[in-house]
Amino acid sequence: MARSYVHEARRRGLGRRRERTVPIIERLAESLPEATIALRFRSNLELLVSVMLSAQTTDVNVNRVTEKLFRKYRRPEDYLAVPQEELERDIYTSGFFRQKTKSIRGTMRVLLEEFDGEVPTRLEDLTRLPGVARKTANVVSSELGHAQGIVVDTHVRRLSQRLGLTRQEDPVKIERDLQKIVPRADWARFPHLLIWHGRRVCDARRPLCEECVIEGLCPSSRLR
Ligand code: SF4
Repeated sequence: MARSYVHEARRRGLGRRRERTVPIIERLAESLPEATIALRFRSNLELLVSVMLSAQTTDVNVNRVTEKLFRKYRRPEDYLAVPQEELERDIYTSGFFRQKTKSIRGTMRVLLEEFDGEVPTRLEDLTRLPGVARKTANVVSSELGHAQGIVVDTHVRRLSQRLGLTRQEDPVKIERDLQKIVPRADWARFPHLLIWHGRRVCDARRPLCEECVIEGLCPSSRLR
């Protein structure tokens, strides 16, 4: 399916994906100035924990959990000072609480032992933390102003395919495609723009093409 949209863009004379990408970013940025991360955090550590908790659940749910959590746990040491079961209870409603507790405590240990208790910004350092995979590392480094990749979640995957920016299905390959066409300065905001556009306008089942600011650049538009 993704393959056909890349061809469809050519067939409709919309231009190459490299030429369409910057106008897509500009138009979305203009229409969605509020498109930023939905997780609430006040420090680098809170950002890291929030992103780790967000696996398999919604940002709204994570914010609900962290509102209390971050009042109690302020430093890496705090996550290790309580029994494992207590942290499990405190993050229980975020789902997969056992695995997440294990990852968070393991991460805090490595932060203290190897990074002076600070959250690193380099992707290769972040991915050394237990339970921190490439996507989590990408989100954290991007939010900290050191984007070294492009976050590809389900929305970014779907929208990139629908816009004919990639033929790939695998997130790592999609990221590689996007890195070639998205200007580096936009690596951090690009995923937010697609995520917000996907939620507000380009719904998976019922896209509102008639209200879409990038309709003229989209090979999946239902208006033509
Ligand atoms: S034109 Fe339609 S399918 Fe294309 S991005 Fe806009 S809403 Fe989505």
